[in-house]
Amino acid sequence: MDTASVNRLVLDWYAANARDLPWRRPPYLGDAYAVLVSEVMLQQTQVDRTVPKFLDFMARFPSVHALAEAPPGDVIALWSGMGYNNRAVRLQRLAEVVVADHAGEIPRDVDTLLTLPGIGPYTASAVACFAYGASVPVVDTNIYRVLSRLVHGVQAPSRAEVEPLATEFLPATEASSWHQALMDIGATICTVQTPRCMLCPVRETCAAAPALQDGTNRKLAEASVPYAPKQAKFAGSSRYYRGRIVEALRQAPPGGLPLAGVDALFSEPPAGGLPQIIDSLVRDGLAICECDTLRLP
Ligand code: SF4
Repeated sequence: MDTASVNRLVLDWYAANARDLPWRRPPYLGDAYAVLVSEVMLQQTQVDRTVPKFLDFMARFPSVHALAEAPPGDVIALWSGMGYNNRAVRLQRLAEVVVADHAGEIPRDVDTLLTLPGIGPYTASAVACFAYGASVPVVDTNIYRVLSRLVHGVQAPSRAEVEPLATEFLPATEASSWHQALMDIGATICTVQTPRCMLCPVRETCAAAPALQDGTNRKLAEASVPYAPKQAKFAGSSRYYRGRIVEALRQAPPGGLPLAGVDALFSEPPAGGLPQIIDSLVRDGLAICECDTLRLP
């Protein structure tokens, strides 16, 4: 497959069809802090829920210094509705580290970014690429799905077969637009169950298009997704209990909630007991427990 012509088709499509997202336009475009905040939010939250929260977050904590100086409880309070509250704590700690160890500048290279709290390979590459223009592969599930179908068709390949595609197709220039274009195609056209190949810029060269282009074979489309992560059951999980408690702390008066009030939130206690859940929240920096009262830090 001619990777340069695929690059061109995708980049031309993006120039005309890019989603209008706040972190892609001024004043946030190219701002490493804004890119970092948006990427941490997008790790586990859908774009439509992220957009208003991103704007609230940037209004409340407009710089890495403002975030570093904020009480963690304020960041956790603002994170309401996003899920995976640990991200709020890690983002605030990350800001402290950036101010203390990097003179308030978000690091530019992937290796240094990886040393920051809560930053994994995807987010490190995304910040290096989207904020600083580094030509490094950035791969999320959308990108893997598009590249995998493009090259391997409807036979879901192994991880070892898919991963090299990100590097093989990486263009020499415009890496940021290339990745953002693939994300947009994955989110809006090459979806898990109903790819709309007729709208896709690579339909003429895509190995999966002949089988998926009429959009009716959902099972075949789903089966072609490489190693789709399985969602763990939420109801009754420790994540469920933790989320309910943190939400109650957000609504609580400034002094917090008595532990008896935390107990009263649940008709059925978690399998391992509530104290374990509360301990984990305290350990993760999501709550402070003192004098039989639980509160945001
Ligand atoms: S042509 Fe169809 S299957 Fe291929 S990348 Fe585009 S939407 Fe996905």
